[in-house]
Amino acid sequence: MYPSHFTMPLSLQFELTGQCNLKCRHCYNRSGELPLDAMTAERWKKLSKELAAHGGIFECIISGGEPFLLGEDLFAIMDILHDDGAIFLVITNGFLITEKIVRRLQKYRYRWLQISIDASNAQAHDALRRVPGSWEKAVHAALNAADAGIPLAIANTIIPETIEDLPEMARLAYFCGAASLITGEVFPSGRGAIDEALLLNNEERARLWHIIEEQRVIFQGRMKIQRSMSNRSQLEGVSDLPAAGAIIRPNGDIRLDCTAPFVIGNVANASFYEQWQKSRGCWQDKRVKEYIESVDWYSGKSNLHKNHVEGDILL
Ligand code: SF4
Repeated sequence: MYPSHFTMPLSLQFELTGQCNLKCRHCYNRSGELPLDAMTAERWKKLSKELAAHGGIFECIISGGEPFLLGEDLFAIMDILHDDGAIFLVITNGFLITEKIVRRLQKYRYRWLQISIDASNAQAHDALRRVPGSWEKAVHAALNAADAGIPLAIANTIIPETIEDLPEMARLAYFCGAASLITGEVFPSGRGAIDEALLLNNEERARLWHIIEEQRVIFQGRMKIQRSMSNRSQLEGVSDLPAAGAIIRPNGDIRLDCTAPFVIGNVANASFYEQWQKSRGCWQDKRVKEYIESVDWYSGKSNLHKNHVEGDILL
């Protein structure tokens, strides 16, 4: 028999900050609009030590906002988890990743380092991310990371205007040395749910999927091309027992998942371990099940709740 709940999550996402150096039109969690972080660097370190003391986690997903804004504190947090045996999936816009930073990142074990590049050209990427020079920085970061032997994934978000750019984007990702390109439409959450002009209609989605399949064939055996998982598929997957993951937000909230607006506690001033034990059965809560049912398989939209637009729900 499999357990219905792990004593500690296998994977825990640290949204280390709600602050960001970019202002992306499609930001799923509205980074840069959030109040200042309640989770200080010291609190993240304390939490990391607490996790290690209770048997540790298998994987930590590092995200934000932009996690490299934490500077030295990011490495101090990663060191605690690394010394306890955790592997990392680091999600970044790449802007702050210099060659020196890449050399420091080489010591960790990874699922992958994920850098976001939204187009094959600076004009389209910088317009979406609303900071000039952000494409060039991201491409340099990707080249340096792959060159240093860090497993690199490039995350690419498609809007209606960039669908036909995907073949060129795939060539850029391959040129950068990416092991995989994760591509898909804007997730309708946060700023992505507010600005409807960013979302694809059914015809555009069908065209995108067709191009993705063509590119998969072209790059087969050389670079993996993944369509980003639909919100509904992801929720159906993670809601199956055993409960194995959660997200800690910059305000300390423990959230079930980045797309499900449910909170099971807060670690800004309290232990994670005890609250995790109390979260047994949360994915079977009627409100959570209703929310998952409300999410459209293709567009990812829920007709019950706008993720990161309307407030979270405490279970
Ligand atoms: S999408 Fe990423 S890089 Fe853009 S504002 Fe949000 S956290 Fe920052």
